[in-house]
Amino acid sequence: MRLILMGPPGAGKGTQATRIAERYGIPAISTGDIFRSNVAAGTPLGVAAKTYMDSGEYVPNNITDAMVRDRLAERDCGRGFLLDGYPRTLDQVKELDTMLTDLGVHLDGVLLLAVDAEELIQRLIRRATMEGRPDDTEAVIRRRQEVYQEQTASLALEYNARSLLAEINGTGHVDHVTDRIHTVIARLRR
Ligand code: ADP
Repeated sequence: MRLILMGPPGAGKGTQATRIAERYGIPAISTGDIFRSNVAAGTPLGVAAKTYMDSGEYVPNNITDAMVRDRLAERDCGRGFLLDGYPRTLDQVKELDTMLTDLGVHLDGVLLLAVDAEELIQRLIRRATMEGRPDDTEAVIRRRQEVYQEQTASLALEYNARSLLAEINGTGHVDHVTDRIHTVIARLRR
C-alpha cells in the first residue's frame, strides 16, 4: 500500500497515520516529525527548517523534497508507505511523481481527513496547552491554517482528477475515524 494522508493542521493525521501504519505493516513517514527530530538534534537540516516551522510557513521545497527522496529510498519502504504531511504544494506533487516513477511504483490512494476550520483551531489550542509545541501559539496556528488553504487544499482537486482521492470525515471519536479510514482502504485494495 502506498498512501498519502492529507488534511489541515489539527485534523488528526499523526494519530491516524500511526494506526494505519501498524495495521498494514508499513512505515508512516511524517515530514513534520522528521523536521522536529532534526531541530531537536540540532542537525544542519534542523537548523535550516526551524525558522520556517516556528512561524508556521512551509520549509522550502528543495529541502523537503530531498529529505523525502532519501526516506523513500530506505529499505522499509519497499512494501509500501504512508506519507503524512507530504506533498503540501503542487511542486511537491510533481516532485513526488518523479520519485515514484524512479522507484517504479505508484500511489494507491490519497486520504483527505476533513474537519471544519473552527474545530481545528480549538483542537490545536488545546494541544498547545498539553504538548507545548513551539508552533502551537494561536497566531502561528492561524497562520498554518491560512498556509494550508493557500498552498495545500487544492492538492485534493489534483488527486481527485486522478481518481485517487477519498475524503474521510475526521470529526467524532478517534476510533470511529480510524474505522472510516480502514473501510476506505479496504475498498482501495479490492
Ligand atoms: P501540522 O500539524 O501543522 O500539519 P506538521 O507536523 O505536519 O504540522 O508540520 C510542522 C511544520 O513542518 C510545518 O508547519 C512546516 O513548517 C514543516 N513541514 C512539514 N511538512 C512539510 C512539507 N511537506 N513542506 C514544507 N514544510 C513542511
